[in-house]
Amino acid sequence: MLLKGGPLEGTYRLIQFHIHWGSCEGQGSEHTVDGVKYDAELHLVHWNTKYGKFAEAVKHPDGLAVLGVFLKVGSACPGIQKVIDSLGSIKHKGKQTAFTNFDPTGLLPASHDFWTYPGSLTTPPLLECVIWIVLKQPVTVSKEQIDKLRSLSFGDENEPLCPMVDNWRPCQPQKSREVRASFQ
Ligand SMILES: [Zn+2]
Repeated sequence: MLLKGGPLEGTYRLIQFHIHWGSCEGQGSEHTVDGVKYDAELHLVHWNTKYGKFAEAVKHPDGLAVLGVFLKVGSACPGIQKVIDSLGSIKHKGKQTAFTNFDPTGLLPASHDFWTYPGSLTTPPLLECVIWIVLKQPVTVSKEQIDKLRSLSFGDENEPLCPMVDNWRPCQPQKSREVRASFQ
């Protein structure tokens, strides 16, 4: 899976995707629109192929391109169901499962209008190596789908259940960063 065009120069390759979500509706996204949070946010992480490998790319301000997709509770998202179905076998820390033949384009909304700005990873070490591309149109997921995410555990299977919820970082000051839109 390759990402190019828009604010990007060159070609970026998908390395992983992950989701941030809340313990309840009304929180969970890491970006906000006019101060309003979404229920979850999907991040598709790509690295700039000119740097040869991911570990080298994160040392540069144009090293990564992360495509952010807002998720909100509504009708079910068929494109995410294969991810949801795999969660039952990796409920606890340290578990792994096979995951193949998945098409991440099924996770995207119909409109590809986006905002973009230069920013950072949202988890330590918070490196400032990310060209953020945040899609304006959210994708809906069902309550049952997001509840499956909330049923995961932070701990291993021998520890008391610690639900994996609110794994999102609050918004940070914009400072001098310019946010640009692909649309009027
Ligand atoms: Zn993320």
